[in-house]
Amino acid sequence: MISVEQALDKILNYVHVLEDEERPILECLGQVLAEDVYSGLNVPPLDNSAMDGYAVQSRDTRGASRRSPRFLRVIGTVAAGSIAGCEVEPGTAVRIMTGAPIPKGVDSVVMFEDTDETQRQGSSTEIGILREVEAGLNIRRAGEDIAQGSMVLSQGAVLRPSEIGVLASLGRTTVRVIRRPIVAILATGDELVDISQPLPAGKIYNSNTYSLAALVRRYGGIPKILGIARDSEHSVVAKLRQGLDADMLITTGGVSAGDYDLVKDVLAKQGEISFWTVRMKPGKPLAFGIIKGVGKAGIARNIPHLGLPGNPVSSMVTFELFVRPAMLKMMGKKNLTKPTIEAVVENPVVNRDRRRLFARVVVEKRNGQYFARLTGPQGSGILTSMTSANGLMIIPEDKAEVVAGDIVQVMMLDWREE
Ligand code: AMP
Ligand code: MG
Repeated sequence: MISVEQALDKILNYVHVLEDEERPILECLGQVLAEDVYSGLNVPPLDNSAMDGYAVQSRDTRGASRRSPRFLRVIGTVAAGSIAGCEVEPGTAVRIMTGAPIPKGVDSVVMFEDTDETQRQGSSTEIGILREVEAGLNIRRAGEDIAQGSMVLSQGAVLRPSEIGVLASLGRTTVRVIRRPIVAILATGDELVDISQPLPAGKIYNSNTYSLAALVRRYGGIPKILGIARDSEHSVVAKLRQGLDADMLITTGGVSAGDYDLVKDVLAKQGEISFWTVRMKPGKPLAFGIIKGVGKAGIARNIPHLGLPGNPVSSMVTFELFVRPAMLKMMGKKNLTKPTIEAVVENPVVNRDRRRLFARVVVEKRNGQYFARLTGPQGSGILTSMTSANGLMIIPEDKAEVVAGDIVQVMMLDWREE
């Protein structure tokens, strides 16, 4: 048996960062930028107003107050998106809207609240200024956000909504990113029925394909569903063949000792096996290997294959621990680990078989401290325990028990934002 870290190391050694491609910016959320992005323009392009108000020469406001307003002649209005045709000279002002370019001759903007605008009915040819302003007030300078020629985003950045907004502010419609991995998913088991079919006696619905495909999608990959293979080598090989253009293959089931060692045999014939059991619970039976596939233009290539356990909880937990980091590495990401917090345990937990235990817990913050309580029965078939959990409490292999009040590490699966 190997440790969780050894297993992960072996897997990560086998996966590589994928190629990059040019994609529409909105499709790149969560992907890694594969170019340095320079700006071809100033953002904003021109000096413009930060407020609705009057564009003035600041020295015309000297001595102005609510008691003794300074009156200026209004020579025009400028809205966002248009350029003022007139030039402000001493004694004059232009009514200006937020975002509108600053007219010639202007060095500051007095906001409406500091004028007698509201006392006047309709448009007026005169405005009273009610305070002194210094030069530069309420003016956003050209290029203050992004200067023309500067590097705005660097290669390796993960594109979040803010980065996508910045790309749009530069007028970029597409950007180079490391492409998303295609992850093929194959369920195995004579007992499995597709969710579109009625359920005969003795059968169960194939749920793993859907929980795993959803995980692939959540972490930025593209799931390719290969369906259900029966517990025969012929059936598994035939289905796997449809996944040979994927970047990674996941199978579920068929790896435990009682299960004809099906996936093991297939892997041994179609590629290479790397390991078989990991010192963890759930998820001890876990296969990793290489399947010989074909890439673009028929060139042979190796596809990493993870044979996850069939139990619905085990397959999800091993996905989080092994498939997720592998996918993220392929996507060019550097941070491959889920966030871990320290929490106070609320129930006693025993862990006698010297494996690392990942127990499903509900984590809550109370009085500035995290608390973790078990979701209930921890059987690996109880998939609803994953719906109540937001974290996995980690009990080390050498720790036979924890008692209420102990501090433990919890790998957070979710932060319950939604
Ligand atoms: P196995 O690893 O194939 O021995 O499967 C272990 C347990 O997980 C058995 O109870 C299976 O019925 C169940 N199981 C396997 N594959 C799936 C699946 N795709 N969906 C739901 N349950 C499954
Ligand atoms: Mg099975």
